[in-house]
Amino acid sequence: MADTADLDWPFFEPRHRELARGIEAWARVHVPQVHDHDVDAACRALVRALGQGGWLRHAVAGTAHGGAGETIDTRALCLIRETLARHSGLADFAFAMQGLGSGAISLAGSPEQRAAWLPRVVRGEAIAAFALSEPEAGSDVAAMACTARQEGGDYVLDGEKTWISNGGIADFYVVFARTGEAPGARGISAFIVEAGTPGLEIAERIEVIAPHPLARLRLAGCRVPAGQRIGPAGEGFKLAMRTLDVFRTSVAAAALGFARRALDEALQRATTRRMFGQRLADFQLTQAKLAEMAATVDSAALLTYRAAWQRDQGRGVTREAAMAKMCATEGAQQVIDAAVQIFGGLGVVREMPVERLYREIRALRIYEGATEVQQLIIARELLKDVKERGQP
Ligand SMILES: Cc1cc2nc3c(=O)[nH]c(=O)nc-3n(C[C@H](O)[C@H](O)[C@H](O)COP(=O)(O)OP(=O)(O)OC[C@H]3O[C@@H](n4cnc5c(N)ncnc54)[C@H](O)[C@@H]3O)c2cc1C
Repeated sequence: MADTADLDWPFFEPRHRELARGIEAWARVHVPQVHDHDVDAACRALVRALGQGGWLRHAVAGTAHGGAGETIDTRALCLIRETLARHSGLADFAFAMQGLGSGAISLAGSPEQRAAWLPRVVRGEAIAAFALSEPEAGSDVAAMACTARQEGGDYVLDGEKTWISNGGIADFYVVFARTGEAPGARGISAFIVEAGTPGLEIAERIEVIAPHPLARLRLAGCRVPAGQRIGPAGEGFKLAMRTLDVFRTSVAAAALGFARRALDEALQRATTRRMFGQRLADFQLTQAKLAEMAATVDSAALLTYRAAWQRDQGRGVTREAAMAKMCATEGAQQVIDAAVQIFGGLGVVREMPVERLYREIRALRIYEGATEVQQLIIARELLKDVKERGQP
């Protein structure tokens, strides 16, 4: 049983405590410990189950279309991701991608776009994907080369997108492409591209260390009606950043869930494994590890829920979200590594929980802004403060 003492923190309201208990009880019953080896089938089943359980309501905005509120409640999003990640990385992935993939529609979709997609996303009937990255535009998003050319009442998309989560199983992709109103970041727009649209092709499925559906997409003369553009032309970069802004703190929450699970597993092992006439946990060297792990978990939790709370107050969280993502993902990697060490040989046996966590955590330090990008954001905000307030 996970430590639930954090729920007493002042960041949370009674409804959050209720939600956290609810998702924990649900996950125990509905999230398999071991998933189907067919990762696409496992992912589809999880999305459906999360929809039936009512959890996907928290990943979209707008009560008229099934959302839990008019805006996404960051604390709810984080509590759900933390809990799911503690049970299964794939369950967390399935939940998070419904939100990230439909995020631009939640934030800036027309009434028609919202009505067409959000209820299906919430019910787990339509799988969403967020297609921003390209082979030559990862951290440097504004270097994007994919184009969308207006032709009469349509846009014609050409280019490549890569690392697209849910690529191959998504029912629709929110694709960002260059419409050329201005150079760089100011000439990009977002489009809804339904799976099966002629000219949209899954060029390659990508296998990663923690399997989940991932693909490179090719768009070749892919024609979509202008009504499928999300928000004003040329505002796509801002929309992508606003979407990532909602979900960045929740990446920290997922890392926190992985770290908590690793600490629980390590405690269980250290208190039952006997060697040299005592328990592994009786050695001070082990206690030092456990202490570091627990402090890292708590600091990640504090940073994560500070950012989530602050965002829910309607305040800017650029620095706070970057700190949460950097510290929680980097810290989780260390906590999980220590857990593997405590398990000894068993820690590297395939599909042991700590071995799975060791693989699951890695990508979180890279996607939605690599750690170095978060460092630059934090430093930029700090230096801006110095400029505004004068030297400390
Ligand atoms: C499992 C997984 C799922 C993903 N899902 C999606 C998705 O659904 N949709 C989507 O659009 N994209 C997705 N991505 C892409 C992800 O956002 C990119 O991988 C990420 O932005 C980094 O881009 P890149 O891989 O091209 O690395 P690069 O941009 O080449 O960066 C390589 C490394 O350079 C370092 N670096 C970056 N910037 C700086 C800097 N300014 N100074 C110093 N060092 C720096 C970092 O260590 C970084 O890891 C996913 C990636 C992975 C691994």
